[in-house]
Amino acid sequence: MSDPARTVSDPRDAVADVLRGLADTLRHHRDLGISEIALTHDPFPDPADALRAQEAALQGCPRCKLSRSRSRVVFGSGNPRARLMVIGEGPGEEEDKQGKPFVGRAGQLLTRMLASVGFDRERDCYIANVVKCRPERNRNPEPDEVAACNPFLMAQIDTIQPAVILALGNFAAQNLLGTKDGISKLRGRSYMYRTGVLVPTFHPAFLLRNPGQEFKRMAWDDLKLARREYERLTASTPPHPDPLPRGEREPKP
Ligand code: SF4
Repeated sequence: MSDPARTVSDPRDAVADVLRGLADTLRHHRDLGISEIALTHDPFPDPADALRAQEAALQGCPRCKLSRSRSRVVFGSGNPRARLMVIGEGPGEEEDKQGKPFVGRAGQLLTRMLASVGFDRERDCYIANVVKCRPERNRNPEPDEVAACNPFLMAQIDTIQPAVILALGNFAAQNLLGTKDGISKLRGRSYMYRTGVLVPTFHPAFLLRNPGQEFKRMAWDDLKLARREYERLTASTPPHPDPLPRGEREPKP
């Protein structure tokens, strides 16, 4: 029997625990004389359908005070089957207007950063934020707001099951990793995270404000790390038959 209190750090251990539990249940059913089990719902729902249902359920969400400052809920965008998930802080003014994450200048830079290591934003990525509604004057989301929205982000992550999460900026990296360490300390390495790894890097808005070459160089190193982790973790299941050229070009803000 598995011990539910045990911390599982290796996803393979978690799968093994689930399978052992399933085997115990099936043996118990067999001992009771049950020879057939009807499936009443799809055990592996299509991620696009699951995300659509989650997004629909969030419309008009009143669960935190950010509901008062938003025009619309900015749920997320991209490929529901992507193996790379990009997570930022929260919607800004333009995102709030359009209902899509990362559509302003920072979004354009993000698109170029991803392309610089061979990721097509729409095809290879799913993009979301820690909170789904715009804080007034683009202030940082507060802890109660993050806590209220966290189950929705976790549901997105568990639906997409990305191999790699690219966490953009202090806020996203700190919240996802549960630490107060700053992005300068967190970046430069990957962390085991749910079904894959998490790679923290600078937020594109920060790179736009700080055009110093050293920050761009560090972001470039992080992107290359994310690409390497992506290759390593998706090697046996290439997600797309027609990858973009993977020249190691410098990102151009
Ligand atoms: S930020 Fe999240 S929890 Fe708060 S109102 Fe928006 S969707 Fe709901």
